[in-house]
Amino acid sequence: MTSKNPETLALHAGWRRDSATNAVAVPIYQTTSFQFDSSEHAANLFGLRELGNIYTRIMNPTQDAFEQRIAALEGGVAALALASGQAASAFSVQNLARAGDNIVSSTDLYGGTWNLFANTLKDQGIEVRFVDPTDPEAFRRATDDRTRAYYAETLPNPKLIPFPIAEVAAIGRPLGIPLIMDNTAAPLLVRPFDHGAAVVMYSATKYIGGHGTSIGGVVIDGGNFDWEAHPARQPLLNQPDPSYHGAVWSQAVKPLGPIAYILKMRVTLLRDLGAAIAPFNSFLFLQGIETLPLRMRAHSENALAVAKYLAGRKDVARVIHPSQHTGAAAERTAKYLPKGMGGLCGFELAGGLDAGRKFIDSLKMFYHVANIGDARSLAIHPGSTTHSQLTEAEQAATGVTPGYVRLSVGIEHIDDILADLGQALDAATA
Ligand code: PLP
Repeated sequence: MTSKNPETLALHAGWRRDSATNAVAVPIYQTTSFQFDSSEHAANLFGLRELGNIYTRIMNPTQDAFEQRIAALEGGVAALALASGQAASAFSVQNLARAGDNIVSSTDLYGGTWNLFANTLKDQGIEVRFVDPTDPEAFRRATDDRTRAYYAETLPNPKLIPFPIAEVAAIGRPLGIPLIMDNTAAPLLVRPFDHGAAVVMYSATKYIGGHGTSIGGVVIDGGNFDWEAHPARQPLLNQPDPSYHGAVWSQAVKPLGPIAYILKMRVTLLRDLGAAIAPFNSFLFLQGIETLPLRMRAHSENALAVAKYLAGRKDVARVIHPSQHTGAAAERTAKYLPKGMGGLCGFELAGGLDAGRKFIDSLKMFYHVANIGDARSLAIHPGSTTHSQLTEAEQAATGVTPGYVRLSVGIEHIDDILADLGQALDAATA
């Protein structure tokens, strides 16, 4: 596929027709195993002299089409689809860091990622050093000889301030430290590789699918990081791997392209930890991707209209949307989000916790769910749900106040979205 246009890639990249049947739609290869042509073929596949299907825990043709399509859209070289976004976050770090190592991460993270970093990776001996993303230099200050990666979200909620991708990537590259970006909230709107990131990951559960039917994740290798140039900084890619006959990943797969990072993840972490995506879910994500360019445009337009509407309401104390930022956050928005600001929008009800609850209970079209990124409009009141275990001070530190409501604005007609919000606001503040 020679096109660079996302509308075309979303429909064509990585697939033309099924080699066995000429089927146009990507078939769901619902099989665990693949027959080898000969003992030589089997040996080549296991020895990585040839890439091909062995067993669906490691790869599968439906998954492969999904991976190729998302890698093409992202401008990367290869991808690995996984069972969930959580698996993608965990693997993206574990692929570089082991016990005794550390990574530096932005504080502004999805709660599940925060838990993974602050507890589970810590228990595994991987320290995560959290720094304020408003100051890129904080990443450099937190770095030491055992720092293996930087990590951040492109458009973290609730603050919705774009992360300084180019600034932090530029600090890491000369040090041999890759920037891993969770781009879940901004697919196609931001391509982190264009700004110097080395790895991109997604919870495909959100916008990539869009239908809200499937949990999945994907990690994409930019193929743009010189692992070999930093042998001391990146030992897992430069020292012999005893789990694979002493393979040195930055060398072993060179003939296959600049895919050392993602191939190592597939044949070691996925092999050993087993967070495989089901073929059917790969198929469903392919269905989602076909309309991703259209949806991201519609989400962005609708959320911008919602932000403007809410900003004009007297019962709304504050609107949190990239269009409302001032100062440095507005400059970052202009730099990173010129194609659209995404579908998320938060707001603060003047009436606090009670008003927040009443608002949610009065919604008729918006769904009250913990998810984001469906084609349908979604809402949640974190103060009485996702953040209710935290003290008010802890909630405030994460950007959640008692009257804060998070909207994931869908692609319904804008008149219906505004009508539902309007009637629920009236009911909440009556
Ligand atoms: N990253 C972000 C930004 C998310 O919003 C989520 C889920 O909400 C995840 C990662 C985890 O993804 P999953 O729920 O698919 O495991």
